[in-house]
Amino acid sequence: MVLEASGAAAGSWPRHYDSLTLFSPARYSSLPGMSFSGYPDRYPHRDEVAAYLTAYAAGLDADIRTGRRVTGVRRGSAGFEVELANGSALAARAVVAASGTFGHPHRPALVGLDRFTGTVLHAADYRRPAPFTGQRGVVVGAGNSAVQIAAELAKEARVTLASRAPVKFAGQKIAGRDLHF
Ligand SMILES: Cc1cc2nc3c(=O)[nH]c(=O)nc-3n(C[C@H](O)[C@H](O)[C@H](O)COP(=O)(O)OP(=O)(O)OC[C@H]3O[C@@H](n4cnc5c(N)ncnc54)[C@H](O)[C@@H]3O)c2cc1C
Repeated sequence: MVLEASGAAAGSWPRHYDSLTLFSPARYSSLPGMSFSGYPDRYPHRDEVAAYLTAYAAGLDADIRTGRRVTGVRRGSAGFEVELANGSALAARAVVAASGTFGHPHRPALVGLDRFTGTVLHAADYRRPAPFTGQRGVVVGAGNSAVQIAAELAKEARVTLASRAPVKFAGQKIAGRDLHF
């Protein structure tokens, strides 16, 4: 039984920011038995990934229950007792936690943050650059999300990317092939 908190079996993809595409090409992003349609070297958009995952889940012979948030797991007489937000409980011999990290974003306790009067947003809550047009912004981090969001924001706002060390940029393609190849 798969217990999914949201309304669709599409992982966190429906909640990612608007412009997000996979950084892995379609050919390397497909799950076993079902390829992404179309040109295999393209980078599918967030909505296509969500639709793909939903379709994939629909083709599985699995008991998938959406709208079921797990709030607790504790040992019971027959293995584990799984508590749900709706107040019900289930018994299970084994529990696999695959709840991802997206629902629990890490917000570091930055010095002075309590006195900062501007907007502070985690990448998990960022959707699009429009609300920041003309503003001055600092994107903290140097991973994929930070660099993509900073590049997108820089078209609309004055942006600084703050990272601990210089960002080591690498081309997505080497000799015409995606680096995943
Ligand atoms: C910005 C970004 C870009 C990425 N791009 C790529 C890429 O191009 N290629 C690639 O391979 N990977 C990419 N990834 C990584 C990608 O997210 C993972 O590969 C994959 O989607 C993670 O899947 P997951 O099932 O582990 O977690 P998630 O997709 O986060 O799914 C977790 C699920 O658990 C549910 N859940 C959470 N808590 C509970 C609870 N208490 N009870 C019930 N359900 C719960 C959530 O609703 C969610 O549906 C990217 C990630 C990010 C953040």
